[in-house]
Amino acid sequence: MKMTPQYIEAQRNMQPGVISLVGFLGNDARNLLEIITADEREMAALGLDFQEVAEWLKKMMQEAEKGLGEPVVFDKWEVQLFEARGFIPCPFKDGIFQKRTMQVKRLNKELTPSVSELSIHLLEKHHFLQGKGSPFRIEPRVLKELME
Ligand SMILES: [Zn+2]
Repeated sequence: MKMTPQYIEAQRNMQPGVISLVGFLGNDARNLLEIITADEREMAALGLDFQEVAEWLKKMMQEAEKGLGEPVVFDKWEVQLFEARGFIPCPFKDGIFQKRTMQVKRLNKELTPSVSELSIHLLEKHHFLQGKGSPFRIEPRVLKELME
């Protein structure tokens, strides 16, 4: 598959120091489209739908908000919101998001991925789970284990 100008620009915006200090690609040597295509395949193989995952994460975010920074136990999960000042734009330039992040822990499991409002948007709108080694990379199999 060929990188369109939109993807080329987004990938440039994802480099460290452009939009965020660490960037979005980690130490992944693949291009943006290769990362997205591989994750789409893995999500499908695991029976995960990007839209459903995004809705679930937004619901978790709403629960986390109730804790005002303290951990909140909700059903099988413990969620905690970490407020941060300021906003961050999407590297695809179609939105701007609060910088705050949420930690989601599945009770009795050693899984505590962090997600931000931007990473939920990237997942929902662009099917982008970030590059390997990125601190906000969301692994499909981690999602599967977290949600089941
Ligand atoms: Zn976007």
